[in-house]
Amino acid sequence: MKTSPRICNRKKRFATRAAAEEVAARADVTLRAYKCELCHQYHLTSRTKGMKTPSYERGEL
Ligand SMILES: [Zn+2]
Repeated sequence: MKTSPRICNRKKRFATRAAAEEVAARADVTLRAYKCELCHQYHLTSRTKGMKTPSYERGEL
């Protein structure tokens, strides 16, 4: 997923995918964690269109 520098700066960053998904799992809305190519950390997005279903939702942990 491509992230613009503006969005990257605005978004909360997570050091690991696990940390981001932990927050996503607790949120009221469906969120996806994705690795940012700019800061190389993880962000959350509520735009799930075209995003891969994370492994924890597919039961592949
Ligand atoms: Zn970023």
